[in-house]
Amino acid sequence: MLELEDALARILATLPPPIAERINLKEAHGRVLAQPAFSPIDLPPFDNSSMDGYAVRSTDVALAKPESPVRLRQAGRVAAGETFAGQVSPGSCVRLFTGSPLPAGTDAVVMQEEARVGPGAQDEVLILGAVRPWENIRLRGEDVRRGQPLASAGTVLTPGRLSLLAATGCEQISVGRRPLVGLVATGSELKEPGQKLAPGQVYESNRLGLAALVGGAGGIPKVFPLVGDALDSTREALLQAFDQCDLVVTSGGVSVGEMDFIKRAFAEAGGELQFWKVAIKPGRPFVFGRRNEKFLFGLPGNPVSAFVTFLLLVRSALLRWQGASDLSLPAHPGTLAEPLSNPGERRHFVRVKVEPGGKVCSAGVQASHVLSSLAAANGLVDVPPRTTLAGGTTVMVLRWE
Ligand code: AMP
Ligand code: MG
Repeated sequence: MLELEDALARILATLPPPIAERINLKEAHGRVLAQPAFSPIDLPPFDNSSMDGYAVRSTDVALAKPESPVRLRQAGRVAAGETFAGQVSPGSCVRLFTGSPLPAGTDAVVMQEEARVGPGAQDEVLILGAVRPWENIRLRGEDVRRGQPLASAGTVLTPGRLSLLAATGCEQISVGRRPLVGLVATGSELKEPGQKLAPGQVYESNRLGLAALVGGAGGIPKVFPLVGDALDSTREALLQAFDQCDLVVTSGGVSVGEMDFIKRAFAEAGGELQFWKVAIKPGRPFVFGRRNEKFLFGLPGNPVSAFVTFLLLVRSALLRWQGASDLSLPAHPGTLAEPLSNPGERRHFVRVKVEPGGKVCSAGVQASHVLSSLAAANGLVDVPPRTTLAGGTTVMVLRWE
């Protein structure tokens, strides 16, 4: 049985390099950069005002005070998007707004609250206070320099990074292709939600939760019809899913019972088992297989086991397939409000509820079929074998939302 880290390392080592594609930045939220991005321009592209006010020569107004204002002549008005033709001479100022380019000859902006228009001639402005050189000015290139790296290859494009790239004029970008991920649920007892349950049947619930997790990891989920527990139908379902998808995630049928067909069906479909079983709870009977350049993630059928093994193993694989460099679940420290015990021999990823302030409680009953505690949980805590973490312990909470 493999340790979690060894299992993940083996999966990551087997995956092919990402396939780059060029897309419009508008479509790029959540995508993984395939090449480093550099800025083709300075940002801001020109010196500009950070205030509504007046562009001045700071030496002109060095002695300005409310009781002894300095009188300037308004030589023009520059709205955002306009420019000032020519040079501003001593004794003059220019009306500006936030984002207006700084007129040549000026070196500071007096905010409008520090100025009065008139009371004499229409073009007369009284400046009530001094400004330091470059005060209230956003300098060209102070945010980003032309040629500066904006993001490295492997970066996930967050809303903030998209804004930065857009501000530098980027329109097309090279990103890793998203994998099409087939979701196959096996089990003769499974029924589609909306149908009537006969005795002994349960509603299928894994594909929906997994589809959401696939999407969250940048993959495109493709849900396949339910598969009964039989070798032939399982093999045919795998062949179809491998034919249509880049990666295939199954649930159920990976244990040792004579009704567990995934491993045999995969072998008959031309697949090669890479490993089986990982020393974690829930989720021990996890299967990883390879079929040419495509991969099988065989998750246990118990709903919580399927969910947790996806988070701990498949999610990272989907991200790596797209070329991402950061593959770990977000982890935040929290403080246990109650003890968490793991009397077992495998690491237990305990479903917890973490409050915004960092207080961590168990999310409820931890058996691998109990979905109410999964629904209540917003994190997992890795509790080592034969260990009780006392209340008050600082723990890292793995998050996925
Ligand atoms: P298995 O891994 O096939 O032995 O299934 C373990 C348990 O999980 C059984 O109680 C199954 O009924 C249940 N199960 C398996 N697959 C699903 C599924 N897709 N949705 C809901 N329950 C499932
Ligand atoms: Mg089954």
